[in-house]
Amino acid sequence: MEEIRVKKHVLKDPAEVEYELKRFREALIRSRAELEKISAQVSDIIEGKQLMEVHILLLDDPAMHKEVENRIREELVTAEYAVSRVLYDILERFNSIEDPYLRSRSVDVRDVGRRVMGNLLGTEKEVLANINQPVVLVSNDLDPSQTAGLSRDQLLGIVTDLGGSTSHTAILARSMGIPSVVALKDVAEYAHPGQTIIVDGVHGVVILDPDEDELEYYTELKDRYNVAEAEIALNAENETVTEDGQSIELSANIEFSQEADQVKRFGGKGIGLFRTEFIRLLSPEIEDDEEIHYRAYRHVLKAVFPEPVIIRTFDLGGDKFLESIPTLERNPFLGWRAIRICLDRPLKFRSQLRAILRAARFGNAWLMLPMITSQDQVLQVKVMLEDIKAELEESGTPHGSIPPLGIMVETPAAALAIDFLIPHIDFVSIGSNDLTQYTLAVDRGSPYVSKLFDSLHPSVLWQIEHVARKCREAEIWTGICGQMASNPLAIPLLLGFGLKELSVSLTLIPDVKKMISVINLKEAEVLARESLMMESGDEIRKYVLKYVESRYPEIILDEIHRDNNDRGN
Ligand code: PEP
Ligand code: MG
Repeated sequence: MEEIRVKKHVLKDPAEVEYELKRFREALIRSRAELEKISAQVSDIIEGKQLMEVHILLLDDPAMHKEVENRIREELVTAEYAVSRVLYDILERFNSIEDPYLRSRSVDVRDVGRRVMGNLLGTEKEVLANINQPVVLVSNDLDPSQTAGLSRDQLLGIVTDLGGSTSHTAILARSMGIPSVVALKDVAEYAHPGQTIIVDGVHGVVILDPDEDELEYYTELKDRYNVAEAEIALNAENETVTEDGQSIELSANIEFSQEADQVKRFGGKGIGLFRTEFIRLLSPEIEDDEEIHYRAYRHVLKAVFPEPVIIRTFDLGGDKFLESIPTLERNPFLGWRAIRICLDRPLKFRSQLRAILRAARFGNAWLMLPMITSQDQVLQVKVMLEDIKAELEESGTPHGSIPPLGIMVETPAAALAIDFLIPHIDFVSIGSNDLTQYTLAVDRGSPYVSKLFDSLHPSVLWQIEHVARKCREAEIWTGICGQMASNPLAIPLLLGFGLKELSVSLTLIPDVKKMISVINLKEAEVLARESLMMESGDEIRKYVLKYVESRYPEIILDEIHRDNNDRGN
C-alpha cells in the first residue's frame, strides 16, 4: 500500500496532539463533502451512487475514527501517519478474508484512505498552484491535471518517480516546453529543497548536487542546444517536403486552446490532435460546460483557418481522471475509458458534440473518436450527431455541418479489423502511444515496464503498415498523432508506409520538419518494406540509424543515442 505510506514524525509538545486531532477531523469533513458532491454528480448512475454511499459509510466508521485518534494520542504521531497505519491494518485484515468478493472491496478502503490523506496533505496542492520562483519540481507522481495547472514561467523542469515517457504527464510537460525526466523510481526520496539539480530532458538524465565539471559541461550543452534549436526554428516558414520534393502534412498536437495561436509560428499546418479532455480536467466544477467548449473550439478553428483541426472527443479515464468519474478499476487503461465513458454517459458527450457542431461554422473542423474497438461505437456516434444537428436546427441555433468523422486507431482491435471500420469513417489517425501499450501489454505509465515499451516492435509496425495500406486502397486519409511521429528513427518508416500526415507536440515541429527534409521518400519506402522482415525493434533501430546517420543534424543524432533504457516512444 505504497501510496499512503508516510514518514513517522513524533510530536514533541502535547499541544500538538490537539492540533493533529483537529486536522484529522477537518480532513474527514472535507472528504465527506467531496463524496457527497460526487454522489450528487453521479446520481444518474445507480452503481456510482451506491459506490459513493459505501465510501461514505467507510469514512463515517466510528471504529476507524477511534483507532486513528488513539494512535495520535498514545503514540504521539501526526494525523497522516496515524491514518496510514490504521489503513494498513484494515487492509491487512481485508487480505485475510476468504471470500474473494469481500476481499476485493479493499479497493474502496484504499480509495477512501487516499482521499483522507489527500485532504490532510492538502497544502501540497496549494503549493503547486502558487510556485512563485524558478524551481525544478521533484515528485513521486503528478496527475496530468496537476501538471496542466502548473505555472510554466517558474517551472524549470519536472522530475518524477512514476510515469512513462508516453504518459500524459510527460506529454503535457513536452507541450509546455518544460524539460522533464520521468520513471526514475526513487528520485523523490533523495532530492531535497534547495539542492542544485540538472535535468537533461533530451537524454533522460538527472543529476543531484552536480560537481563543478558537470555544471560546466551541462551549461555548455544547454548553450549549444539553444543555438541549434534556433537554427532549426528558422525553417518554420518553409513547406514540409521530403528531399525528393514530396509534400507531407506536419501538424500539431495541442492540449490547451491557446496553443493554437502558436502553430503557425512553429511552422505547423493545422492541428492533428486536440486533446479536449484537458478543458474538462481543468474546470471540473463547471456544470454546464458546453459554452466553454464551444468557445475553445471556435478559438482554435479560427486560429488555424483554413487548415483542419482534428477535435478528439473526451479521452477521460486511463491516466486522466475526473472526481465525478469514480475509479475502482485495477487496470484503468483497460477499463472505463474514452469512448466507453462517453457512450455510457451520453449527457456530457452530447454537450461536447453540440459545442463542436456549433463551432464548426468557424473553420475546418474534423471530429475524431478515441479508443475505438468496434464499428458499433462509430455508428452510435453517427446517430447522435444527426440527432443533435436536428435539435440545433429546431431551436434555430447557428451551427456548421457535421464534420468529417474519423477514428483513432490505437487498439489492435481497430488496427486488425480496419476493413470493417473503413466503410463508416472519413479518416484515420494512428495513436501509436496506446497502440503500443495495448499491443505489447505494457502500461504506458509504469516505470517498471518502460523498457518493454517499443513503438518499433515488429508487431506495432506490421499493424501500422496494414492500416496505412488498407486506408490507401480505400482512399481514406491517414495520419499519425502518437509520439512515434516525432521519433527520429520512426519518421522514415512512417513516411515509407505512406502516411500522409505526422502530428507532433508543438515544440517539436521544427525538428521534425528538418528531419523530413533530408529523407528521400523512395528510399524510405524501401526502408519501411525491409523493416517488416526484421525480428526485433533493436534490429530495426540499427537499420534505420545507418540510413539517417549522415543526414540528420548532430543535435538529433545526439538525441537518438540517448540511453536505450528510455526509448522515448
Ligand atoms: C495515442 O494514444 O497515441 C494518442 C495520440 O492519444 P493519447 O496520447 O492522448 O492517448
Ligand atoms: Mg491514445
